[in-house]
Amino acid sequence: MCSEEMENVCPGKEAAADPFHPEAAVSARTLLPTSFVYSPSLNCLIVCTNDTSLQVVDVHSNSVIATGTVAGGSGGTFIKFLENEDKLFIACGNRIGCRSVQNEQIFLNTILQVAEVPKHDTVTLELDIVKAGLLLSALESCMATSSTLTAQNPVSEKNLTNVLMTLRTAYDKTVANMDKLPMQGIKWLSVLLTMEHSVLTSVLNNALVLTKAGSRGPALPVLGDVLQRLASMQRSVTDTVSSEKRLMFNEVDRLETFNSWPHMDYRWALPGPMAEAGFYHPTSSTAEDRAMCFTCSVCLVCWESSDQPWSEHKRHSSNCSFVKGDHTENVPLSVYSATAGAQIVTTK
Ligand SMILES: [Zn+2]
Repeated sequence: MCSEEMENVCPGKEAAADPFHPEAAVSARTLLPTSFVYSPSLNCLIVCTNDTSLQVVDVHSNSVIATGTVAGGSGGTFIKFLENEDKLFIACGNRIGCRSVQNEQIFLNTILQVAEVPKHDTVTLELDIVKAGLLLSALESCMATSSTLTAQNPVSEKNLTNVLMTLRTAYDKTVANMDKLPMQGIKWLSVLLTMEHSVLTSVLNNALVLTKAGSRGPALPVLGDVLQRLASMQRSVTDTVSSEKRLMFNEVDRLETFNSWPHMDYRWALPGPMAEAGFYHPTSSTAEDRAMCFTCSVCLVCWESSDQPWSEHKRHSSNCSFVKGDHTENVPLSVYSATAGAQIVTTK
């Protein structure tokens, strides 16, 4: 009789109420901060814990303005701030990620996502609320206009629906959180789109084609940015001549192609201004100083010291959408460092 009564007591509930139970000790341990930094330019504390979560505390109001989880890490998370460079570093396990605090948006949730991921692996795209909204409306209009196109391909229609629904859910969730946040927290707010890499790439590539065919909308740079980010996660796989032009959406990638540029003594036609004006230096180039535009078909050679990249681009290709200032997939330098992949630390 006595033992039966004992069995009716729920052991789980009993255990949770006991602060000296081993499980209670574990949950207390997960709340421990592993490291924290203070950023004078942001006037906030960023606190990392050993369960890979982090909190941003506004020093002025002493309130938590953002919380997040550093995806991709395992174990204790360590944070370091380089004041001279205004850069944040987060390390976890064998990964180190970096973000510049000068950017308008600081994407910390994906700071530990590595640059190389297998094709069928799940990846997370972190977007600010404006870009996520633009992407959402671009995909919605694709859904409306592409019915005849996708009807021939049920897989791509299903994928588009999946991406659209996942993005809609993530977007609504972020918007719902926005009202609860103080003004300072908006900077830290992001929409997280987590899906299979290959599905995202194929859906967004189709969306890019359809958006370009329609009115050249403001969603084009967003599509260019996310496609470039996805491509950079698989650089070794997609590194073919046909994809070279597509990868050149990004000013950073264009800049890197000028490593062997022969005119480093010129006043204007230097790597920085050339990349900014839309040019890249193709690797397969036979002419030493051949420069191509990432969006139009212009290809310029025999650069002279008095040539200026923008005016040469305009002179030889006045109909280029980038020259005309239309919406293109161009991703400016400033955007890139907000989403760069994490580095893997290897030991001998
Ligand atoms: Zn052009």
